[in-house]
Amino acid sequence: MPVSGSATDPEPEATRPAACPACDGPLARWRSVATSDPSLPGTFALRRCARCGTAVTTGPAPAFEEAHDGGSYATRRPRGSGLAAPLLRAFDRQRLRLVARHASRAPGVGASAAPGPRLLDAGAGRGRFVATAREAGWDATGFEPAARGVEAAAAAYGVTLERAGIEDAAVADGSQDAVTLWHVLEHLDEPRAAVQRLGGWLRPGGVLVIGVPNLGSLQARIGGARWFHLDVPRHRTHFTPAGLRRIAEGAGLEVVAVHQVLLEHNPFGFWQSLVNRLTGTTSYLYYLLKRTERPRARPLAVTLLALPLIPVAAAVEALAGALGRGGTMALVARRPSDATTD
Ligand SMILES: [Zn+2]
Repeated sequence: MPVSGSATDPEPEATRPAACPACDGPLARWRSVATSDPSLPGTFALRRCARCGTAVTTGPAPAFEEAHDGGSYATRRPRGSGLAAPLLRAFDRQRLRLVARHASRAPGVGASAAPGPRLLDAGAGRGRFVATAREAGWDATGFEPAARGVEAAAAAYGVTLERAGIEDAAVADGSQDAVTLWHVLEHLDEPRAAVQRLGGWLRPGGVLVIGVPNLGSLQARIGGARWFHLDVPRHRTHFTPAGLRRIAEGAGLEVVAVHQVLLEHNPFGFWQSLVNRLTGTTSYLYYLLKRTERPRARPLAVTLLALPLIPVAAAVEALAGALGRGGTMALVARRPSDATTD
């Protein structure tokens, strides 16, 4: 990533990075954002690209283990996770349908049933999506840099994930029918290099599906500096559809679609962003479920009073998504068939 190294720089810390990580456009000071995670306190300056609207979190990234292996990302079972299981399955199935719709090889489509088409989940978390994809007939694998994710995947789903990051994962070039990168890219300081590498893993005609929060969304506008999906300092880059598109195209991929009506993240993000404007505790319910917050009378009361707004939030969010202002987006990009001979 380009870094401003000038000794005369009046604010060397705040000017990093020097250019937009999506389009190389100029970055300007935008807003300060306090972290909402009680396990990672602090306030962070965001800079925004004048050209594509993408923003970056300035300053050094938190240590990986601290930010992703503990606190709210720890593998303790969240409160109510038993009740949430059917919901999580519905999220996974929607994501899988999205992959299958655009992939030229999908289970049940094409000539032979076995072996299934190859799907790789990059940054597979606890392996739930790899397990769901296998059940649906995909020859699915994944890798994950966090040790606790790898352990949880083996224990909960019998899925063996490679413990690796994008830069060191052992994946053969041209070997995958589909690669998914689900809410990972926003955590990286160098998103272009990551997408370039992932694109190379696709066989010609294969598809890459990238899910990230949408800074151009209605809920980002409503939430402002307290938008649920800002999640600083973990989230390093805050993409707009234009910025994400530039990254995919820069990696030599053809953008096929950008989906924004998504069950996972979007309705909850809208509702939580709305509630964040009404209470002094940002994203209280989320952190309560993650066990980083404890039950406290005032934010709990506000949260309970706001629960009836969930259907309204879901309806408005669905409309926003249909109009290209969804809270998160899933970009689908294809490796051109004439990229190399198969
Ligand atoms: Zn830009």
